[in-house]
Formats: sequence, C-alpha cells, structure tokens
Amino acid sequence: MKRALINIDYTNDFVAEDGALTCGEPGQVIEPTIVELTNQFIKNDDVVVFAVDVHEEKDPYHPESKLFPPHNIRGTDGRTLYGHLRMTYESNADKANVLFMDKTRYSAFSGTDLDIKLRERGITELHLVGVCTDICVLHTAIEAYNLGYDIVVHKDAVASFNQAGHEWALGHFESVLGAIVK
Ligand code: ZN
Repeated sequence: MKRALINIDYTNDFVAEDGALTCGEPGQVIEPTIVELTNQFIKNDDVVVFAVDVHEEKDPYHPESKLFPPHNIRGTDGRTLYGHLRMTYESNADKANVLFMDKTRYSAFSGTDLDIKLRERGITELHLVGVCTDICVLHTAIEAYNLGYDIVVHKDAVASFNQAGHEWALGHFESVLGAIVK
C-alpha cells in the first residue's frame, strides 16, 4: 500500500484572519497538525500533493463567481500557503515526492491530472488535510471514493467556516465514503 497526503487549499484567503473566504480560527488552529503531517509524509518519502484552488480575476464563467467573493486569485498573496506550511512547501519544493498543482473546482480531481499522477506512483491510499471540510475536502473525498482510493481524513487537520457542515462531513466521510477518520 502506497499513500499520499493531499493538502487542500490551506492558503491565506481560506485561513488568515483577513482572508477573502476565511475559515477563521478553526482554520488557524489546525496549522501545527497540518505542518507536522506534511513533514512526516515528506520525510517518509510518501507523496505530498498541494492541491490549491486558483481563480482568474473577474472570471464571469466560473460557477463560484455567483456563490463566493473573489478568492485565491492567481499570483496574489491570498493564494499563498498559510503560516508555516508555506516554508514547509518551499523548503521541499524540489523533492520528487512533493507536487504542487492548481485546481479550479472543489475537487482536486476535477479537470486535473491528479488521478494519473497518483496512479503512476502506485498510490492507493489518500490522506486528506486542509479546508474546507465540507466543500473542497468533501468533494475531493467523493471523487477519490468513486475512483477506488482508500481514504483517511485527519480530523484535527481539516476545518470549515461552517461548524455544522464540518461535523456533518466528518460523519459522511466515515459512514458513506468508508473513510477512516482519525
Ligand atoms: Zn474557489
């Protein structure tokens, strides 16, 4: 069994106090756990994928334009990884097992080559961390389930601006997607 950590959307816009679409404190308190897990996976030579939402400025075609304020605009500070995760990524960016990828939908699989990248590396088990539990983490988990991956969600390393949605998604991962939530 080969495993990968999928690090979802842990950027300033989603986590920082002044982020455009921030989870606020629940997002900020998981920082040490995300950083620790990321370092563990990198050191262990497991694959680590940073799957990061990207939007173009004033994109009238994107469905999120109607739903959310502009966020994670390409090239902005809002799209930079939050806190110590930024250094964790930057100091390991040249490693073969560390990948950074753009995504434009909630799911990290939607319109990306993530599935191909994982399969060519023999990955069968995905560990999910990041934000938001009930949006991008959820949609990534659903697609991972449909593609046949085993799923582990680290509950102390996911968060949402919607506490009820967060709790609901944790239950859904376990009872409907067969994930291990730990
Ligand atoms: Zn978005």
